[in-house]
Amino acid sequence: MQKAGEFDLIARYFKRAAPENMLGVGDDCALLSVSPGHELAVSTDMLLQGRHFLADVCPRSLGHKALAVNLSDLAAMGARPLACTLALSLPAVDHAWLQAFSDGFFALAETAGCPLVGGDTTSSPDGVLICVSVMGEVQRGHALRRDAALPGDDIWLSGCLGAPAVALALLQGRLGPDPDRLQAGRPRLELPQPRNGLGERLVGMAHAAIDVSDGLLQDLGHILAASNCAAGLWLDSIPQHPALDGLDQQWRTQAVLAGGDEYELCFTADPCQREKIRALGVQLQIQLSLIGKTGPGSGLDVLDAAGRKLEVSHKGFDHFSP
Ligand code: ADP
Ligand code: MG
Repeated sequence: MQKAGEFDLIARYFKRAAPENMLGVGDDCALLSVSPGHELAVSTDMLLQGRHFLADVCPRSLGHKALAVNLSDLAAMGARPLACTLALSLPAVDHAWLQAFSDGFFALAETAGCPLVGGDTTSSPDGVLICVSVMGEVQRGHALRRDAALPGDDIWLSGCLGAPAVALALLQGRLGPDPDRLQAGRPRLELPQPRNGLGERLVGMAHAAIDVSDGLLQDLGHILAASNCAAGLWLDSIPQHPALDGLDQQWRTQAVLAGGDEYELCFTADPCQREKIRALGVQLQIQLSLIGKTGPGSGLDVLDAAGRKLEVSHKGFDHFSP
């Protein structure tokens, strides 16, 4: 992008005063410090037009979501947000779009306490590309890593699942038009609320954690593979979003087990933590459900109310699957 235009855009839409203890937008690097006894948690997520969002999505929602999906990774590690950066490639300068996008981004950055301290802005021939990085801090040695589950752990889930999958299917015409259902599910797809407060409080209480971005089975599968554990999941104990009410049973099961874009936390903990975890859910007003158990070995079974294994066809979203 032409330099003068680029600097004007940055100053107009992305330069905000950084907190006193940081150097923000305007130098070659941002500077931030980590509290003593903590380590830096860093994560990056890209959002590509046509792949992760539809071209006509509301730009304010998109600004929110670009940061939300990154904050969710910090939540999954138990890290407290410190700051973020934003790299943006745009096919053309559309001021109304940029204003709405940056409003959505900053609104969440402020509520999450995650100031924007740098980035990059370029032009791109085809489609919008958004790349956000987040930095957070977590007590040294206490992050909620994927490899920390132990056999015999409880498996927990925050919130309820299925709404983003149903909203996307409605928007893409894979489900017949149903305005009420779309209205119920759409906020979960377009304005996901990352679970940062919960993630931070789970440090010291949970063993492993992951955020559900590609589907519960696939994401829990990452914990099991990294921790060398098996698991049984109780399908009936997984809360379903009301946007799924009245849909065919198989569709609902698929949406709950394999639907992506949830940004709920799935975590494991020693059964002796049960009461503490339940109390935390009450305190934070977040539904926390015990949805299964880990065990020795490998593999993930989904069990019905009678304890029978269910056949599950599609595990989740993989960008490189055929
Ligand atoms: P450099 O030439 O060092 O890459 P740039 O000209 O790309 O610097 O950016 C100038 C300043 O503006 C830097 O501090 C950079 O971090 C910041 N910046 C650029 N684009 C964005 C953006 N989209 N959001 C926030 N900060 C940005
Ligand atoms: Mg640059």
